[in-house]
Amino acid sequence: MSQQGYVATPPYSQPQPGIGLSPPHYGHYGDPSHTASPTGMMKPAGPLGATATRGMLPPGPPPPGPHQFGQNGAHATGHPPQRFPGPPPVNNVASSHAPYQPSAQSSYPGPISTSSVTQLGSQLSAMQINSYGSGMAPPSQGPPGPLSATSLQTPPRPPQPSILQPGSQVLPPPPTTLNGPGASPLPLPMYRPDGLSGPPPPNAQYQPPPLPGQTLGAGYPPQQANSGPQMAGAQLSYPGGFPGGPAQMAGPPQPQKKLDPDSIPSPIQVIENDRASRGGQVYATNTRGQIPPLVTTDCMIQDQGNASPRFIRCTTYCFPCTSDMAKQAQIPLAAVIKPFATIPSNESPLYLVNHGESGPVRCNRCKAYMCPFMQFIEGGRRYQCGFCNCVNDVPPFYFQHLDHIGRRLDHYEKPELSLGSYEYVATLDYCRSKPPNPPAFIFMIDVSYSNIKNGLVKLICEELKTMLEKIPKEEQEETSAIRVGFITYNKVLHFFNVKSNLAQPQMMVVTDVGEVFVPLLDGFLVNYQESQSVIHNLLDQIPDMFADSNENETVFAPVIQAGMEALKAADCPGKLFIFHSSLPTAEAPGKLKNRDDKKLVNTDKEKILFQPQTNVYDSLAKDCVAHGCSVTLFLFPSQYVDVASLGLVPQLTGGTLYKYNNFQMHLDRQQFLNDLRNDIEKKIGFDAIMRVRTSTGFRATDFFGGILMNNTTDVEMAAIDCDKAVTVEFKHDDKLSEDSGALIQCAVLYTTISGQRRLRIHNLGLNCSSQLADLYKSCETDALINFFAKSAFKAVLHQPLKVIREILVNQTAHMLACYRKNCASPSAASQLILPDSMKVLPVYMNCLLKNCVLLSRPEISTDERAYQRQLVMTMGVADSQLFFYPQLLPIHTLDVKSTMLPAAVRCSESRLSEEGIFLLANGLHMFLWLGVSSPPELIQGIFNVPSFAHINTDMTLLPEVGNPYSQQLRMIMGIIQQKRPYSMKLTIVKQREQPEMVFRQFLVEDKGLYGGSSYVDFLCCVHKEICQLLN
Ligand SMILES: [Zn+2]
Repeated sequence: MSQQGYVATPPYSQPQPGIGLSPPHYGHYGDPSHTASPTGMMKPAGPLGATATRGMLPPGPPPPGPHQFGQNGAHATGHPPQRFPGPPPVNNVASSHAPYQPSAQSSYPGPISTSSVTQLGSQLSAMQINSYGSGMAPPSQGPPGPLSATSLQTPPRPPQPSILQPGSQVLPPPPTTLNGPGASPLPLPMYRPDGLSGPPPPNAQYQPPPLPGQTLGAGYPPQQANSGPQMAGAQLSYPGGFPGGPAQMAGPPQPQKKLDPDSIPSPIQVIENDRASRGGQVYATNTRGQIPPLVTTDCMIQDQGNASPRFIRCTTYCFPCTSDMAKQAQIPLAAVIKPFATIPSNESPLYLVNHGESGPVRCNRCKAYMCPFMQFIEGGRRYQCGFCNCVNDVPPFYFQHLDHIGRRLDHYEKPELSLGSYEYVATLDYCRSKPPNPPAFIFMIDVSYSNIKNGLVKLICEELKTMLEKIPKEEQEETSAIRVGFITYNKVLHFFNVKSNLAQPQMMVVTDVGEVFVPLLDGFLVNYQESQSVIHNLLDQIPDMFADSNENETVFAPVIQAGMEALKAADCPGKLFIFHSSLPTAEAPGKLKNRDDKKLVNTDKEKILFQPQTNVYDSLAKDCVAHGCSVTLFLFPSQYVDVASLGLVPQLTGGTLYKYNNFQMHLDRQQFLNDLRNDIEKKIGFDAIMRVRTSTGFRATDFFGGILMNNTTDVEMAAIDCDKAVTVEFKHDDKLSEDSGALIQCAVLYTTISGQRRLRIHNLGLNCSSQLADLYKSCETDALINFFAKSAFKAVLHQPLKVIREILVNQTAHMLACYRKNCASPSAASQLILPDSMKVLPVYMNCLLKNCVLLSRPEISTDERAYQRQLVMTMGVADSQLFFYPQLLPIHTLDVKSTMLPAAVRCSESRLSEEGIFLLANGLHMFLWLGVSSPPELIQGIFNVPSFAHINTDMTLLPEVGNPYSQQLRMIMGIIQQKRPYSMKLTIVKQREQPEMVFRQFLVEDKGLYGGSSYVDFLCCVHKEICQLLN
């Protein structure tokens, strides 16, 4: 049964003029055409498919020897069982480990309830932001609490001077939506601030919080006269009018009176509170439905039966029992799965289970893998599947007695019985036809004129010589099993024979780019160590070989085709590293023309800019996935190169797209080399199929990521690395039960870097509730934004952006209105009440709406928009959080003795100061902003120059000055860069100099340079919508 749409028509909703085009609904933006069509090149369904039956049951007697397992890497061949320590029983009473424990307790688990900070947070679960309008002072919420409480309550603490008196260097405040008495350009929500029944007054008014020295009396009458007429249209056109918002902002600017930013929820405060209460602790995953620490909180995670949040994060850890409830709340039910996430060295790597020829134990009906959700019965002879309830016989080799509480005696010896995540060695049944060969890396360098001239070819060749030493290998192996090959190209292709016994590499030219063939098999893909001298010889020669070339034209699709054919011929999966610079205009398949048309921006045809201009790349991507060929693309464009077309194959094959605009050797070299090194070395699985199984009552319905789907269930990935996440949306089929919860099992079948076929299993149990309040209590805003971003960015291909923006705004209002109506305690209608778990949803949602992908502005490069769209599609929760809400750190207050990062400040101009130095990072860019009155000793310390005026901003690396400030700052930058998939290029920005405009785009709480509301304005807009819904 499809519940596509979850069309939002909660009982309270009213027809809304202006947004009737597309009722808000999450995930599915109504694009029937996008369901993947079979291509006839499906991977073998294999045992991942529900139809596979062979190999599930033990053939005859149990295989000799114990069922082996060991940790990945050094002990891949297995340990004797006793070596497996089991989940460390930290305060681990037996029952706390039982996955089936009914969740009578609050869904806020242990640690959080013991913290005074969060205790207070939960008292404030119905947070009041303001209650202006009829002169009502907001009721006090008890004693002023720590941090969040004070800053979130009204009346606010006295605003800081810097906010109220921004000073001359501050951008003019946005036309305000909050109007003081006597001015009301802004149409305001139709609500009755007095709580009386009857028709609302034609207009009601936000009022500013009391300013210092000002009392908020009852005398703030609704401003009816001068705003009534413009109301309807302007008010409701908000989402569409988003970029400039002229309609919404109509009227004379009201710069003086505005909502105190300190009185609205602060992302920084939420992050800091979570750090204070949960940071540095051990988070054990022994309880179903428990809410993990935020992605911004460092802690140690201990797998005790559910997958670590490093692998799976959910939009909510408590699903509603019925689809009606889900429709009512409109909270997306989704999981963001990062199956190969990096595990820090102080946490256990995944254990590897090897059942020999028997293969993994699986449910006969639904094919779920043995996991902590299987319940053993009948003395251990049978087990009931937690997903489909089927009762299965325990295979003889797997039999074990039960203890007095019905648990197998070997419970803690078997990872698959006691852990949330582990791996299985896959049997032959899980291979295409025979065991796979180890993968290969093919380096493909564009040697056209511009790349030779700017030195890029020489740089790549030079650096590869050292980087190839670091090709991933199994821990216990001396050398990598990954073979390497080399191709150069412009409008023809050059293959190289680098066989170890050659004195000189040999080049073979393929000029028929219409139908690429591989001119050599033997000697093309080689072991790096064996062929090292020939390879180095080749890399030395390549820059000279093409030094005199005047060839400007390039091909692109034939390059990918050549790499894929080479892998196919060698019968192995692999990864192509393509270094490319220009629009491929040479006569060949996939030839592109410049079709960048800014006139399409802000029209219904804008989506065309995000679509590939030919279907060549789409079918090429399908071919690549079918053959386990992943494509990573390094782009060095100096003008439009059609990223939407060139990036499609990397996107669909689990590769990565890197882009260096106007590459300049002295400025961009380091960023590129860091990216290349990181990409070569990162952990990766090849030729993967992922399957997400669920317990009865719900199922996975939509998938977002670097993936390809040939049917509705198998997620195919040519490769998946440690930074890539797949976001999965779930819908109800039926009712869910509070007792059994909602169980998820994600299985990824893949080929390791040494050519072993494996299954990686992640299990996660969520709670279910028939109370909406439980659902809201268990939400994770960071995961919600990840989901909304991916579903919106997918919809961009098919729908007008205006519609998408409207859906996002409306859905935000619906989610919050539903909470207000059903969960919050009664209060004046004029109050904006947000659930504790979604306090920062509005600010993050506004950041998403302001992202250049959704912002229809001709000033922004089409390629940049296509690029960012693609990046976000594969992001995990931590990366999307930083991307949409950058980290802004004050550097001038550094404690040079501390190794802690300074506390971040909110991304707003008002937080900067002339005397300050700030570091901003969003995962792609890093800025060091210098106030005009920055302390000279800091400038000296960091730049080794005497004054602000002496600083040369034309640098992307800080000088290494042997000064504590310099060392500390560079260490901080290192920490921020750590664990991030892209190397961030540093830009030095001086206050009041032109490049500051770029920097200001990242101050996401302010009104955008190219449009996009300020946080305050957006919050008011959402509040208006909520009030309409509630009326
Ligand atoms: Zn089953």
